[in-house]
Amino acid sequence: MPQDYPPGRGRVSLEAAGIPIEGVSIAGHESFYKLPTLRTLLEFGRAPEDVVGYSTVCVSHGHLDHAAGLAHYASRRRLAGLPTARVFVPAEAAPDASRWLEACERLERIDYDVEVVPASPGDRVPLRNDLALTVLPGRHRVPTVGYLFAEVRHKLRDDLVGKEGSEIAALRASGVEVTRTEELPLLAYPGDCSAEIFEACPELFRARVLLLECSFLFPEDRDRAREYAHIHLDDLVTRAARFENEAIVLTHFSQRYTAEEIRRSLETLPEPLRRKTTAFLPAA
Ligand SMILES: [Zn+2]
Ligand SMILES: [Zn+2]
Repeated sequence: MPQDYPPGRGRVSLEAAGIPIEGVSIAGHESFYKLPTLRTLLEFGRAPEDVVGYSTVCVSHGHLDHAAGLAHYASRRRLAGLPTARVFVPAEAAPDASRWLEACERLERIDYDVEVVPASPGDRVPLRNDLALTVLPGRHRVPTVGYLFAEVRHKLRDDLVGKEGSEIAALRASGVEVTRTEELPLLAYPGDCSAEIFEACPELFRARVLLLECSFLFPEDRDRAREYAHIHLDDLVTRAARFENEAIVLTHFSQRYTAEEIRRSLETLPEPLRRKTTAFLPAA
């Protein structure tokens, strides 16, 4: 039987600091991440059956290992009679993504229920009353954005703490805002990126979970990482003290490495970075 994935690579299911992440990520081949508790699919290099039900999708850039599933997904949602889906795409790439879908609609003589939403850094989208999506800047060879998921907590205004419930209710009834919001960054994902991302997007260091590409690992691949605008393991080592994250999930490793080589390389990270870093690989 021909295999879809190189040995030791393929479907992954893990939990990082309480956040389940399931999918596949192999550089140049296929990336997608299901985030069920965040109600979002990140990327669809392909669109396997179990991602079709996600009605919010965040695509970081147009490289096909991240975006090739778009039309297939749209077509199958239509067949399944699913409601309108939103697919966030970097603003500069959105017109091409829309034209691609329109061409497929003509080929199939059907209309898809997929809205391509242009995403620019700083855009904010409420996903739920307690969950917000913020678009982050990206740094890659084609237009790219990242995504940050934050838990939104509605708290009583500090100056109202200790006041009578009836007084607060009266204020609320008169139209006064009695709560303030507090945001906890849950998961940050910058898409494919070069090391410049750390300066462009310091939010990465503070999210509870950082889902980060690390395409290249070996010393001889440093130039390749720079040339193709990808992260090299050294880029993490030189910034080791800055990662405040509870968990870092490294992903998008080049196909040139075996799963064993990837695990061994991550073992060389300095503490405490090593302890909180996981490779997005199938369980050994
Ligand atoms: Zn990629
Ligand atoms: Zn890419």
